Amino acid sequence: MKRSIRRTIACMAAAVSITAMRAALGDTAPVHAEQEPPVTYQVYAIRYASIPFRVSGLITGADTSRRIDIAMMVWLLKGSDGHDVLVDAGFHRADLVRRYHPKDYLPPDSAVMRAGVTSAQIHDLIISHVHWDHLDGIDLFPQSMIWIQREEFDHHTDSTGAVKDRMIDAGDAKRLAAAARAGRVQLVDGDAKEIMPGITVYTGGKHTFASQYVGVRTKEGTVVIASDNMYLYENLATHRPIAQTLDSLSNLRAQARMTTIAASPDLIVPGHDPEVFVRFPQPGNGVALIAK
Ligand SMILES: [Zn+2]
Repeated sequence: MKRSIRRTIACMAAAVSITAMRAALGDTAPVHAEQEPPVTYQVYAIRYASIPFRVSGLITGADTSRRIDIAMMVWLLKGSDGHDVLVDAGFHRADLVRRYHPKDYLPPDSAVMRAGVTSAQIHDLIISHVHWDHLDGIDLFPQSMIWIQREEFDHHTDSTGAVKDRMIDAGDAKRLAAAARAGRVQLVDGDAKEIMPGITVYTGGKHTFASQYVGVRTKEGTVVIASDNMYLYENLATHRPIAQTLDSLSNLRAQARMTTIAASPDLIVPGHDPEVFVRFPQPGNGVALIAK
């Protein structure tokens, strides 16, 4: 049973027993079940590698001579109720590490430990899209439930792990399908779905067929984890779509919408911008606290 459902049932049971106790004691005053404060999350960006990249591969129309070392990230959401969630899983397969030559590479589960959380504590894993650098690490978090858009799953693979669109790596398709057969995959049906208390996913970014981004309730307001639906802060600042998109206009609309969802533009976290660790330098060592 999902932990959030267990929590709800436990709450309901507690409320019923208090009502019964009060009735037995002859207390007829109206009962207000104790309202727990809504769950909020601390949000961290965690860097597990860097890869040199052309900016024109990230921002439509950028100068082709510009280069940056993009940050390879996952995002940790630490719940006020002790429920830890990871957005994206990074990559770790040896052939991918050999092919892409990441600098300062750490397996994503080791990188997450820098924020004080072990792999076994990750209860849920939200996958923004099927690209290898976001999906490949799912088997590093074997205790977690994997959340992905149904259309993203169905467009790229099936229960056998067939590759239906080459946006998904063949090894990753097999791994995702195996997780689905093991009952570890929750398919999300579309836009603006609150998949657990305080965490809502949105579609329309169109980085891939049904890529999603994540709104997270924090004590500082809503943070948006854009993932690759907005590669860099510069996309948002200059109103440029991401260079790799199936629909530039839909991507621009999604970026504009993120500004209406996030409590402030500073709380929209791009998918690969090393600037995240400059704007949010604490606690450091590849870990950026975005919101407390
Ligand atoms: Zn990416």
